[in-house]
Amino acid sequence: MNVHSAGQFPATRLRRLRQSPALRSLVRETQLSASQLVLPFFVRAGRKLRRAINAMPGVFQLSPDELLTDAARAYKAGVPAVLLFGIPDRKDVKASGAYAKNGIVQQAVRLLKRELPQLLVITDVCLCEYMSHGHCGIVQKDKRGARILNDPSLKLLSQAAASHAEAGADIIAPSDIMDGRVRAIREQLDRAGFTDTPIMSYAAKFASAYYGPFREAAESAPQFGDRRSYQMDAANPLEALREVSLDVQEGADIVMVKPALAYLDILYRVKSEFGLPTAAYAVSAEHAMIKAAAANGWIDEKAVTLESLLAMRRAGADILITYAATDVARWLGEK
Ligand SMILES: [Zn+2]
Repeated sequence: MNVHSAGQFPATRLRRLRQSPALRSLVRETQLSASQLVLPFFVRAGRKLRRAINAMPGVFQLSPDELLTDAARAYKAGVPAVLLFGIPDRKDVKASGAYAKNGIVQQAVRLLKRELPQLLVITDVCLCEYMSHGHCGIVQKDKRGARILNDPSLKLLSQAAASHAEAGADIIAPSDIMDGRVRAIREQLDRAGFTDTPIMSYAAKFASAYYGPFREAAESAPQFGDRRSYQMDAANPLEALREVSLDVQEGADIVMVKPALAYLDILYRVKSEFGLPTAAYAVSAEHAMIKAAAANGWIDEKAVTLESLLAMRRAGADILITYAATDVARWLGEK
């Protein structure tokens, strides 16, 4: 139908269908549901540890026991899935903690799958939290400076992915943005017998200032340089489509656009072009901005949070990754 042929005033009055909550609900085009939510967590070794993150009110680095408490609360509120980031005790130049059999993420996955078997556990696969230099791949330094090596990094990423699957992860989510990593991870998972473990790829991941608070949370700030040699330039929508296309060809089951709110055009194009299950990641600064404005009494936190997520849904997101997932699930349950 062509919206312009919908009719003319006075026969047509669009306000007729806006007169009551029930009428508005009946004709609503986009739905928000708790079943679409994913809650990210930062887990580190210890017991009874709950370390607040400055720029992310309500978000903590948690020891596994505390993670279980919060994950159970989220699940009870209706959040079906969590996304785990690990903070290892020690970092090195081989990112050993990323693929250690008893690494922090692997431990957390086993615990969650044992205690909350119905909760979907997604694991972020990257090297930056585990590298002493904080980059997402292996670094080679020479006279010209430092370079992030692509192909050698794929081996470590694949190892990390397989160790997460081995621990029981339901979905593997590579966020490193090395070329060819979805294929390398798919092959490694298949070789290890995890042919049924899906990959959710951070397919269009932009080098973004909106990641600022996250780096404190994951303790993954690069010690030198930045991530612009591997993450995408914010100005490039066509390149984003190429990134997604490659990941789809390499075997991605779900594709992600990150950040979310400042990249809704990308989200819309990715969903329209590929039609795959598509995730939007409302990143740390999106969370921080809403929290800060709400704390000042400048905006209504609940209303702005829900409206932002609705915008992501409208743009094509099926899956909403948000630090506010538990609150959102509760708010949706109240209605
Ligand atoms: Zn990384």
